This record gives sequence, C-alpha cells and structure tokens, in this order.
Amino acid sequence: MKFHHLAILFVSLLLAACQQQKPAASAPSAAPDPHSFSRPDLARAQHLDLNLLIDFDTKTLSGYARWTIENPAGASEIIFDTDNLDIQKITMGKDEKPAKFSLGARDSIFGSALRIQLEPCADVLTIYYATRPDAAALGWMEPSMTAGKKLPFLFTQGQAILTRSWIPCQDTPGNRITYNAEIQTPVGMMAVMSAENPQQKSPDGKYQFRMEQPVATYLIALAAGDIAFKSVGPRTGVYAEPPMLEKSAWEFAEMEKMVEAAEALYGSYVWGRYDLIVLPTGFPFGGMENPRLTFATPTVVTGDRSLVSLVAHELAHSWSGNLVTNSNWNDFWLNEGFTVYFERRIMEAVYGKDYTEMLAQLEYWELEEEVMLLGEDSPDTHLKLDLTGRNPDDGVGDIAYQKGGFFLTMLERQTDRAKWDAFLKSWFDEHKFTSQSTESFLSYLKTNYLEKYNLKVNTDEWVYAPGIPANCPRPNSVKLAAAEKAAADIARQLPDTKNWTPHEWVHFVRNLPAATDVATLKKLDAQFGLSSSANAEIRCAWYASAIPKGYAAEIMPGMESFLTEVGRRRFLMPVYTELKKAGLSDDARRIFQKAAPGYHAVSRNSVEALLK
Ligand SMILES: [Zn+2]
Repeated sequence: MKFHHLAILFVSLLLAACQQQKPAASAPSAAPDPHSFSRPDLARAQHLDLNLLIDFDTKTLSGYARWTIENPAGASEIIFDTDNLDIQKITMGKDEKPAKFSLGARDSIFGSALRIQLEPCADVLTIYYATRPDAAALGWMEPSMTAGKKLPFLFTQGQAILTRSWIPCQDTPGNRITYNAEIQTPVGMMAVMSAENPQQKSPDGKYQFRMEQPVATYLIALAAGDIAFKSVGPRTGVYAEPPMLEKSAWEFAEMEKMVEAAEALYGSYVWGRYDLIVLPTGFPFGGMENPRLTFATPTVVTGDRSLVSLVAHELAHSWSGNLVTNSNWNDFWLNEGFTVYFERRIMEAVYGKDYTEMLAQLEYWELEEEVMLLGEDSPDTHLKLDLTGRNPDDGVGDIAYQKGGFFLTMLERQTDRAKWDAFLKSWFDEHKFTSQSTESFLSYLKTNYLEKYNLKVNTDEWVYAPGIPANCPRPNSVKLAAAEKAAADIARQLPDTKNWTPHEWVHFVRNLPAATDVATLKKLDAQFGLSSSANAEIRCAWYASAIPKGYAAEIMPGMESFLTEVGRRRFLMPVYTELKKAGLSDDARRIFQKAAPGYHAVSRNSVEALLK
C-alpha cells in the first residue's frame, strides 16, 4: 500500500511540474465522440501552428501541423484523427526529438487513428505530412471550372469529419482549438482562411493567419485562387474572383444590416470581421459558416438579392454552432435548428413578416417531405440522432434544421418574445466558446424557461420521438397560396407575376398540374424565360417540373449547360432524378460524364450512386 502512495505522490509531483502550460481555453466534453478516434478528455491538442505549401500541379498540400498539447492526467499517448494523409515524420518538443507513433488501419468513414507516444511534460508535437490528391475535404478546381478561367482554385470543406483529410487533428466538435497558419500559394494568388484575413494579394504568395478564438476543427477552412476583396460595410466585405466581385458585392450589400439585426437579438458579434467569399460553382453546398469568413456558392449571386437568407443563416451560426457548438454530431440540431430559427428572426427584422412567413412555409413543407421520406416512425426524425457507426453527413437532412427550428418557434410562443429572447441570449452568453449536448440544453431550458414561467411543454416528443409533434407551429403564407392558385389556373391563363419573388416562382412551377401540356409549358417558357433563368432555384424547379410532363427534349441543351455549370448537389439531384425517372438515363449519364470533373466529390458521389 505504501508503494502505491509513493507512486501516486511521485506522479503528482511530476504532473505539478508540467502544469505550467496555459490553462485550457475550454474543457472538452467527457463523453467520447462516436465519430472521432481522439480522446481530448485524456490528452488534448489545444493550439495549432499550421505551415502548408499549396501545389496545384500535384493537387497536394505539404508541410507540417505543430500542435501544442495539454496532458494534465499524464496519458501515455495522444490520439489524432487522420484520413488518407502521408505522414512523413513526427517530432516532440521544441528541440524536435523523433516521436514514436503508429497509424491504425483505415476505416472508410472515419479514417485512421494516429497514436503518438507521449513523454511526460511533452507540450509540442510536430507532424510532417502531405495530403493526397483525392483528400475528401479539398476541392481542386481547374482554371476551366473558375469564373476567371485563368488560375486554378482550391477550397476546403471541413464539416462534418473531413478536416482530418487535410490536417491531422482531434476532429471532434467537443474540442476547441486556436490556430495560426502560414500558407504558401503560387505567386499571383490570394489565400484566405477562417481567421484574420488579407485584403490584398501578397507579392510572394506567402500569407499568415491568426485565429485567436477557440473553434472546433471542422471550422478550420482555407481557400486560394485568383481572389479579390471589396468592402461593403465597416466590418463586412466580400471576397470573390475578379469577374464575380462587383456582382457579389451588390448582392451582399446588406450584410452589415444583418449583423446589426443579429446583434440586436442575441448579443455582440464576437468574431471581429464578418466577410463572405463567393467560391467557384464546384462548391457543393449553399454556404459554410467558417468563422469570420462564410464560404458561399455562386448560385446565390442571382442579381436580385433573393437568396440572401443564406447570409442570415451563415451569420446566425456565429452564435449557434461557432460560439456554442454541438458536442458531437448526434446533437447536430443544436447547431442547425437554432440557426434556422435565428435566421428567420434576422430575415424578419430586415425584410419583414410576410417574406419570413413565406420562407417558414416552404421550410415546413420541406420538413413534411423529409418525414415522409424517412418514415414517420424513423428514429432519424428525432432531433437527438444516433449516428454511431454512420457518416455524420447522413444527419444533414431537414430534420435537424426544420424540426429544430420549429421546436424553438413553438417554445417562443409559450411566452412572449421578450422573455424567450432574454432566455436565448443568456444561453449563448453563458455557454460561449463551449460545446454543448442536447441534454445540457434541455436541462438549462427547464430551469431557466419552462419552470421559471411555469410552462407545461413535452420536450421529449420533439427531441426523442419521431415525426412532427401536434403542437408544431404551422406557417400560413398568403403569397404562396396565391402562387399555388395561379398554377392550378394555368390551363386557362398565364399568371400575373408582377412583384413575384423567386420563392413564389419556385412554388408556382412546382405546383403546375401534372396534366399541363407541352404547349402550355412552351408558352410559359417563352413568356418568362424559365429555361434560361439566372436564378438556379427557379431553373432547377422548372426542369424538375418540366421533364415528367414531356418537355425534356427541347430544353435539353439548356439543362446540359445548367448541370455542367452548377456543382451544388441541391440543384443537381432533382434534375438527374427526374431524367432517370423519365427514362432519359442515357442523356443523364452523358451529361454527368462531361460535367463530373467540375463537381466536388460530395456531389459527384451522390449523382454517381443515383445513375448506377
Ligand atoms: Zn447551417
């Protein structure tokens, strides 16, 4: 027994000697993340110094990731997530002694665990490595896939578990890190990150970055190419390729107003600047809320500011997601449901109630559709998901977004906005720069809202039960009802479309009766130019509606260029799906073969699976 006591004393002395490290920016959550090999609760990476060279010829990034680590309990190893990385060597300490490590077998979803043996007091690890050309997070765009057609372009997408394919890291949203980076691009390019950013090209292509606020690793982001900057407000601005810059700055001119509206609701914006970069069409998502710099698809640059709710959404993530983060991907609704709710509040403050009710109505229908698709009893329609063993990207459906958003609207309506907003504001304020679970939110809600105001609400039927609960708010948009009626009347008259927003257009097109004949479709197309609309939402809805009605052959060339120019999965899937259903798989495959090199892997894989 004595021996033990002595041993414990010795270990604690040793630990005391190591504890001169800076305290943790935030304690990682204790429950292991089912989508990460890492255990930051045992030994934690807390700060990253990243040094990478971008090589467009070999489509690789190479250099090192230097991690400052914390090992308060004296663990004998630290575990990182990696996927498809070439690890060259790993050193320990500032004097770079070789470290012992092993790389586990590769899992097709989660990658490989990198285990590094730790010496007592080890505080710095440097991992020398290179990425592979097919790294899942990296979108390498040839010049032909860019707006300028001269230089290639690179962007990253880290969410949900892709950062490990370009940086060895503890890839769990339960851990937060700060980072500095030095990125070398070819001369003539600009690099930007989810950090303090340059506004001009550097003459030697070398860029330094700093992110001093702790963020989850899925929020580390990089883009490089022929990028220019234009300011649109005191702390807001737009990055884009030069041919897109003016259009983009016009489209997003109201960003500053949105930041102000958001701050008025839930407290100060803590990240310094809020900028947005318009990426090439190969970017497979609408937007990604990378801190300080939202990544956005060029399909929202429509020339009519009709899709700027995307900015409201990504901006809202500066609170829900980036400031208070889901502890792992099973709690994804904490990021997205909050953000959808918050997005609507920003839109209402800037664009009014009618417009926002229309968006809410559309989202309600999306939710109904998703529940139908997954099945009313499916556990995947719970807010709290169980994605163990599955790719967390499977959780990226409408449930976390729309059911989550309506859950909060329902809660808001139990009292009044003043009380509810004060509650939400304190939730963000008291949990900033931490990761939170569904359970911790529910317990906070119970104490600080439900019990405080003596409310009887069954939260479990929303969080742990399937389908749409009976007390779900049902939006009722007058504008959309009118568009629906116009669609029903199409055989008798063309619609009066004065002041229609693209949302009304999309709704009208989707509701055209199945029996609408080709002559009527042609007339509509001639009158309103739907097949050549600059708005991708309208064009996608139009194609998806026209194909099953027999109007595919004539519009095939326009459809082909649409599918080639637009890389966003949201627009590709409905059109390819309808082509396949209409027995036009040969056309679909021919177009896909031509367009695939311009798609991001995320889009390419989905279309490929569909057409198999
Ligand atoms: Zn989101």
